[in-house]
Parts: sequence; structure tokens; C-alpha cells
Amino acid sequence: MSRNIKSVGVCIKFIVLQIVFFHASAQKISNNLDTVDMNLVIQTGSDSVHFILAKTARLQMNDCGKMNLGLRKQIAYYLLESDSLFSRNWETEKVHARIGAVPSDSHNIPIILRMGEEEFHYGCPGELYWGYGPRWGRIHRGLDTKLDIGDSIVASFNGVVRFSSYDDGGYGKCVVIRHFNGLETLYAHLSKLMVSSGDLVCSGEVIGLAGVTGRSNGPHLHFETRYNGYSFNPFLCFTEDSFKLKCDTLVLKSQDFYYETEQGIESAITKHKVKTGETLTAIAKKYHTSVKKIVAINRLKNPNNLRVGQTLRIKK
Ligand SMILES: [Zn+2]
Repeated sequence: MSRNIKSVGVCIKFIVLQIVFFHASAQKISNNLDTVDMNLVIQTGSDSVHFILAKTARLQMNDCGKMNLGLRKQIAYYLLESDSLFSRNWETEKVHARIGAVPSDSHNIPIILRMGEEEFHYGCPGELYWGYGPRWGRIHRGLDTKLDIGDSIVASFNGVVRFSSYDDGGYGKCVVIRHFNGLETLYAHLSKLMVSSGDLVCSGEVIGLAGVTGRSNGPHLHFETRYNGYSFNPFLCFTEDSFKLKCDTLVLKSQDFYYETEQGIESAITKHKVKTGETLTAIAKKYHTSVKKIVAINRLKNPNNLRVGQTLRIKK
């Protein structure tokens, strides 16, 4: 009995401490921005203190650019701790953080692209030289824009940096940001990373500099848009000529993720019919791949003995 009374006492003490902590923190946010909606805080009475603060933090994002470093850190802390959007599969050492299966037929996913005062920015507008979709037998999951080394790369929306590191799978120095609208954007082949995992970043802020790191033939930005870790064509969000948002709310459908399905990936694999006099080396060169990869994907037992008319599967 006395143990029960003691544990109730500890529990009450904990709640009191949490409430004091919460008021002090909420007040601090309020002092900084004068925009905290205390009604929202009161309405969410049964939620945990951190969850309330995470919700409150979301309200602050209209004033993202005005926040000082201390406030940013505080808000990022609450988001990562209590906002499910920023805690589900929060991989800081992997470029891709997939959640569930590829969105299927039953999914119609509304994505709010324009939130309050927030403005969309493309990573770094430039000459687009490769789009989203099949390329050399595999799926190119983003847009390639020609840039100069050292050009500033900016965040597309407000959000929290999930990954900022070197990826040896081909992206090189790469930043991935998770946004409040549920999307992630990816910026690859950078020469310099200027943010760290866990940083709160605002739309239009510089996150790194353009470069040629990873699998890259020249200085360019490789930019991706992803939902639950699955890529879709960024041009569903913005126009190809001026990089302006196409709509306030984008509704993603299952077909937008076709190139993430097995069928879509298979559809990208090029088929080549061997002609008289052709060698594997020449075929590999034609499709920007290697003899080794052609041998592997086709399980060729005797690579030096190609048949005229034989069909080869080509994947870079
Ligand atoms: Zn690319």
C-alpha cells in the first residue's frame, strides 16, 4: 500500500515538473515569435507535453526564416521526439528510408505544396538535361540540372534534415530533407554539405554547394522528390520551364509510383538484338554499361560466343 502511495507521489511530481517545463518552453517560443496559438495547446490537453510542443512548433514554421539558432534547435528537438512524421523510419545513415510498400491502388495521397507563407524553391534552377524515368536500362529517379561547382543549393520547403553525408551508392555528398507536407527532397553530387542531420531548415536556405561527387560525369544537381521513400516525377509538383509550383495541393496516385514497382523497373530494361560482327564490348559501350554487367544480368555462360539474333537484357 505504502509503495503505491509513493509511486503516485512520484508520478504527480513528474507531471508537475513536465507542466512547469512545458510552460517555460512554450513561453520561450512565444517570446521569440509571438505567434503561439495557446488555444491549440489547451485543446490538446490529453497529449504529452512534447507532443503539444511539437504541434506548436509546426505552427511556427510560417516564420521559419526569423528563428534564431537556439529556437530552431528547440523546435527540431520536439519534432524529432514527438511528431510521428519526423520519427517514423528516421534513418540518418541511409539515403533511403522507405515506409511500407509502394503506394497501391487504394491510395490517393493529398500533399499540401503551399502552406501559409512558405514559398517553394527549386534546389538550383539551371539547364535541365535529364528528366525522371527510364535511362540506360534503369530508372533515373530524379532531375539532373547543369550547374557550376560551388553554386548554392537551397531547400525546397521547410523541414528537418534527415541525411547529410557521403553516399557511396552513387549520390556522393548528399542531403535529404523531410518536409511538413510529408515529402522528402534529395540533393546529390554536392561538393560541400552545409547542414547536418537534425537541423531545421527553411525553404530557400542554402544547404550545400554544387559539385561532381559520386557517380557523376560533370557538375550537376540530381534532385528527387519522394513520398514514404518512393520516388515520383518532381514535375508533378512544379513546371519544367520556370520551376514554379503547379498547384497548392498535389494528389499522388498509385500510377505516379510505377517506376518503383517491379513491373516498372523491368519495363526500363533495354532489350538488344545482337547483329553480325557485334562484340559485347561494343554493345556495353553503346549502352553506357560494362561487359561484366551484361554477362551477369543475362547469365551468359560463354560471353565470347554471341549468337546473331540473340536478345540481351541491358541494364546500367
Ligand atoms: Zn541524376
